[in-house]
Amino acid sequence: MPNRTIYIREEDLATFNRVQESSGESISSIVIEALKRYMQEEEGKEKKNQEHIKTSALLDLLWQEAMTAQASDIHIQPTFHGNSVQIRMEGALRDLAPFPQSLYPKVVEYLKSQACLNSREMNTMEYGRITIPYQSKKIEATISIIPTFLGDAVSLKILNTSEGIPALEQLEPGAEHEGELAKMLRKTHGILLVTGTAHSGKSTTLYSLVQQLKANHSRVITIESRIEKVLDGCLQIPLKNSQPKEYCAAIRSAMYNDPDVLMVDSVQDKEVARLCVEVAMKGHLVLFTTQDTSSLSALKGLIGLGIERYLLKDFLAGIVSQRMLRSLCERCKELYEAGETEKNAFPKILIGEKFFKAAGCPQCRGTGYRGQFPIMEILTCDKKWQQIILQKTENEITREEEMSKLLDDAILKARKGFTSLYEVLRVLSMLSA
Ligand SMILES: [Zn+2]
Repeated sequence: MPNRTIYIREEDLATFNRVQESSGESISSIVIEALKRYMQEEEGKEKKNQEHIKTSALLDLLWQEAMTAQASDIHIQPTFHGNSVQIRMEGALRDLAPFPQSLYPKVVEYLKSQACLNSREMNTMEYGRITIPYQSKKIEATISIIPTFLGDAVSLKILNTSEGIPALEQLEPGAEHEGELAKMLRKTHGILLVTGTAHSGKSTTLYSLVQQLKANHSRVITIESRIEKVLDGCLQIPLKNSQPKEYCAAIRSAMYNDPDVLMVDSVQDKEVARLCVEVAMKGHLVLFTTQDTSSLSALKGLIGLGIERYLLKDFLAGIVSQRMLRSLCERCKELYEAGETEKNAFPKILIGEKFFKAAGCPQCRGTGYRGQFPIMEILTCDKKWQQIILQKTENEITREEEMSKLLDDAILKARKGFTSLYEVLRVLSMLSA
């Protein structure tokens, strides 16, 4: 191999000589080794940089698609053959294109670093917040990393903290329950529950109720494991975790701050529930949510948590139970007359009665539906219910009577053309499942 002359700068000559002396061997092999390492490092950096750009671009596409569809949640998870990406829109899950499998770990790592989570830590459950760039806005979301058998899964919940909170009359089309809700809010003390399964819109209702109380000049303190919306003029206390101890400590601290109204975002524990009742007994109005399927389940749940019936009778202001129905797309909904099939499914309707059904157009992406609204049943603790709470066993409290209120509300909304009978059937069969 022909020799080549390599020129080095005079100031580097001393270093060069020292390396040659200490190595005791040909300096060219040392230089070559160092150059190889340098090249590997640079190529690695370049590859990493390209992967980073690609990951960021793919996530930008996902944000774009999810926000355009007004998704409430985004789920990214490993599967047996690769990975899956899903968004929840109008209560239903929809599949999107998965990430290239080679980039999946990078996507998880990227999201963790954006949420300031420990990106190197694998197989650890972690929670945080993340900002999603969309058009010129920054959308807030919570992020949770769940280690699964196949690897880390990521769930994002879009918060839309800047989106307005609906007034009571805007909560549902037709505003049938506005009067009942406003009446419950006139109570100065007691407990007021909003209950429903996941994705039943109970947080929005709770925020709307609290906003109304604030407008009524009440001093409001909220205790929330996840602040979904900003309530102007209220003291919102975020919790580090959802442990009962954390809730109890925050409730006790809040009581030193002179609240008229206390809102606790979720009560699923005996100790927290009892503390809420104690606060109500001291003359405050306490609002909270539970994850029950109906008003009666929520009532039984409170009894099950060990709250004495005589206390419930005196301090239960009311229970709002709700579900979400999809709204028919105004552009393409079609009028038709109900026949035998509809009559069999809903004995309360008439054959020949006019309803609307979903059709599908580009505006609603062919689904026939755009947006959602709640159907509600409200249990106000009047004399009749006070007697039931005191005297009836849990088994005697029949579920059907209250369930029919949700059904009645759903049929009323279908009669007014806000939704279809098919949608009512879909949601109610989920209820009875
Ligand atoms: Zn349409």
